[in-house]
Amino acid sequence: MTAPGAYDVVVIGGGVTGAGVARDLSLRGLSVLLLEKGDWGAGTTGSSSWMIHGGARYLEFDWDTTRLSCLDAGHIVTIARNFVYRVVFLVPVMPHDRNNIERVETFMEVYDRFQPLKKAHPHRRLTAEEAREVEPGLSPDIVGAVTTEEWGVDPHRLVFANVQDAMAHGARALNHSRVTELIRDGGKVIGVRYRTTDGSTSEARARVVVNAAGPWVPEIGDMAGVRVQLRPAKGIHIVYPHRISNFSLFAESIDGRDLLMVSHAGFTLLGTTDDDFYGDLDSVEVSEDEVDYLLQGFERVFPSIRDYRPVRTTTGVRPTLFKWRPYEDSLSRRYEIFDHASNGVDGFVTIAGGKLSMYRLMAEETSDAV
Ligand SMILES: Cc1cc2nc3c(=O)[nH]c(=O)nc-3n(C[C@H](O)[C@H](O)[C@H](O)COP(=O)(O)OP(=O)(O)OC[C@H]3O[C@@H](n4cnc5c(N)ncnc54)[C@H](O)[C@@H]3O)c2cc1C
Repeated sequence: MTAPGAYDVVVIGGGVTGAGVARDLSLRGLSVLLLEKGDWGAGTTGSSSWMIHGGARYLEFDWDTTRLSCLDAGHIVTIARNFVYRVVFLVPVMPHDRNNIERVETFMEVYDRFQPLKKAHPHRRLTAEEAREVEPGLSPDIVGAVTTEEWGVDPHRLVFANVQDAMAHGARALNHSRVTELIRDGGKVIGVRYRTTDGSTSEARARVVVNAAGPWVPEIGDMAGVRVQLRPAKGIHIVYPHRISNFSLFAESIDGRDLLMVSHAGFTLLGTTDDDFYGDLDSVEVSEDEVDYLLQGFERVFPSIRDYRPVRTTTGVRPTLFKWRPYEDSLSRRYEIFDHASNGVDGFVTIAGGKLSMYRLMAEETSDAV
């Protein structure tokens, strides 16, 4: 039995990772306190592309991430079928694209092998006429298109559902509660100090503290005197208040990257950029250049894109694991769990990296480590 203000585990970060960890630990019967400094899911999770996707793109450099994402996406779809909806993409191919239609189709044939893991359908190849018939907004210059399928989700609802289920299993969950300090006893982390929006400070003791703070993971690591190095990468979206296209679309950017226009239930997200980020995580701005870069990429395949009125932008910073050299886009989306006992800091576990699509698996393995 733990004393009041004392828990088996304190989890820092109420994004999808922390909420998933809090739920998993509570289901195992541990007493849990989850702390989030803002709103649930208001960090990177809320500014994602809102997809439980397999990551077809990672097949080029990180096959295992695609496989694990598809596998875990399949579990999430099974557990929470009422939360997800199919997002069907057209991948239009233009003359002189980086990949011609044969290459794109071959790529999708490989991805088709993974689609059953997440209960999605295999690709279809469309002629230019067929593609323009189903989506008349496509450029008259396209040479054909290939379809592919992912799952859409409202990440805020997904996070909150995990928080609610954790609470239903006994967890305490506080948002607008910022961890300002870790309480130490020699080398061991034994709790946290946190500040709520009314300015008051509280303490909570725990046998283990989990650092699930997404891109803020290094900042929380510093509080424990351990270095967790990320290579944070910023991404933005343009938000339209309605659907622009019948289908979600791929486009190629000027530097050959894949861009996505995701047609969600009642709105459209057009994204995204992927740039190393060195600034203040609590104040990430969107520049006109970033917006223009996305529009430029899309008007090739969807010429009328600039006629539509966006209402806002979103921006988030990916908590990508550190690696020197690769371009941001080619960074692995793998995750890693650090038990800092190996750095002489007991009672402190960090979960870093990963993707929304794999949050359930990340939560399970983090809970195993705890
Ligand atoms: C543009 C973009 C598009 C993406 N699209 C997708 C996608 O479609 N599908 C997909 O699978 N992945 C996608 N990703 C990746 C995915 O969004 C992230 O990997 C995932 O959401 C990270 O979740 P998290 O909980 O680890 O981090 P976060 O969501 O950032 O959560 C960490 C939380 O910790 C809190 N916190 C920080 N410091 C403290 C503190 N001191 N005290 C208390 N709380 C604190 C923060 O407020 C934050 O809410 C995308 C990422 C970006 C940037």
